[in-house]
Formats: sequence, structure tokens, C-alpha cells
Amino acid sequence: MACHSISVDVEDWYQSTVDAAAPLSQRFVASTNKVLQAFADRQVRGTFFVLGLAAEVSPQLVKDIAAAGHEVQSHGYGHALNFDLTQEQFRQDLLRAKGMIEDLTGREVFGYRAPCFSIDERNPWALDVLAETGHRYDSSVFPVKKARYGIDGYPPEPRVITTSRGHKLVEAPVACFDWLGKRRAVGGGGYFRLWPYWVIRKAWRQLEKLDRPGIVYMHPYEYDPTEMAQFRQSLSLKLRIHQGLGRTSFPRKVDKLLKEFRFAALAEVLAPLLHQL
Ligand SMILES: [Zn+2]
Repeated sequence: MACHSISVDVEDWYQSTVDAAAPLSQRFVASTNKVLQAFADRQVRGTFFVLGLAAEVSPQLVKDIAAAGHEVQSHGYGHALNFDLTQEQFRQDLLRAKGMIEDLTGREVFGYRAPCFSIDERNPWALDVLAETGHRYDSSVFPVKKARYGIDGYPPEPRVITTSRGHKLVEAPVACFDWLGKRRAVGGGGYFRLWPYWVIRKAWRQLEKLDRPGIVYMHPYEYDPTEMAQFRQSLSLKLRIHQGLGRTSFPRKVDKLLKEFRFAALAEVLAPLLHQL
């Protein structure tokens, strides 16, 4: 039976989603602690891709995640979209985050998730820069084409890739499945907020039949149902609805999934591929 993986991009909602120049609020600290409790309740080891800025706000949180036995990897430093960076800026962003997180956990950082899946056909060089900065796996290429990210028809299963400059790297896309004649995103985040649980379960059963690990991504703010109601700054109604929708039911869906299927940290699930590098 395939072993799946659940990962958390540790960041603050407003800074990561609306305004990258805004200071981070403290809300993500309490929400991440809720996620840690939810994983502890199901005795699941997860993977936490920590944003460098979040590690600066709460170094203790990063230590607590590591002390709880979870895998700690990198979500980059500043949450700029990688399409907007030069190769050199991307390199600096990666190295800054990797150094900070390694100093806090005492463990090597070798895995990465891009802000908003910002590695696609526009910036294949990002995979080269990842390999050149000591990363061995990446979970950033979204395997369904969406308005802001994704590559149509991208191989959905984790595999070893050769980058354009000849480096080897493991690419591990988040989960998708085929339903009603179409490939559909079901990897977590907004998709978990929108799909009813029976659809998510249907997807995971299909992944098990294919012996393919289902990789979930999520954010601390999906465990913070009151954030939108308490948010006092101006925000378009569309964004307010889109960002708040489904937060109340999200933790319940994750808990059901963790109860029904087997999950492990991503580096464990990818170990056979990492050994091929
Ligand atoms: Zn993010």
C-alpha cells in the first residue's frame, strides 16, 4: 500500500497571499501549534516547509516542530513569486532560508516548496538553482494548469528528473487525480477547502490503486477559521470569500484522511528516489 505524505507551508496568511511587503502577524504561530496537535493526535509525522520570514518571527516554533519529530524543510525566505526573481535573487533567497532553518534545527535542509507553486514553464532554471544550492527534492511543480501556476500534463508521480543544466533532482508534485475524464487538483489548500471529503477519499483510493503517494499541502491559516471575521484591513469581497471559504471544515477533512490512510514525512516517502541521486 502506498504511503502518503502531508506537508505544511509555514507562513502568515496576509503576507504570503495578499502583500509580500507586509509584516507577518503572529497568528500563524498559534495555528501551526494546532496543526502540530492534530498530527500528534493521529501520530503522524509531517513535513514543514518553513518560510525564512516566519522563522525570524518565531524561531522557537521551528525548534518545536523539529522537536516533535517532524521533517523541517524550506519554503524560501521572503515568499516572492519565483517568476519575478532573477536566478541570482532566487539563489540568495534559497540560501538565506536554508542557512536560517539549519541553524535552528541542527539538521540539513534539502527539500523545497516554492511560494504559490511558482516553478513552471516560465522558469525551469529554478530547478537548476535548487540543485546548485544543495536541495535534493522539490515539491513545487503543480501538475494541473491553473490560472496562476501549473503545467498541463506534467507527470503526476514523484520521480528523478534531470534539470536543463544536467543536475539530478527528485520532483514530487502534490496530489491530483483523474475523474470524469479530466485531471483534477486535489492536493490540499483551497482544493481541500472546496471538495467534500468523499471526493478527497475517492482521489486517495485511486492513488492507492496506482501505488502512487498522495502529497498534501496545507497552511497554518487553514486551521484559523476566525481570521477573516477578525481581519479589519480593506480586502476585496471576492478575496475575503475565497480566502475564508472552507476553513471551518478543513481540519476535519484532514483528520479523516489521516485516520483512513497511512502518512509519513516526505523525505521518507521519497527515500527510494533520493537514493538514486
Ligand atoms: Zn506559501
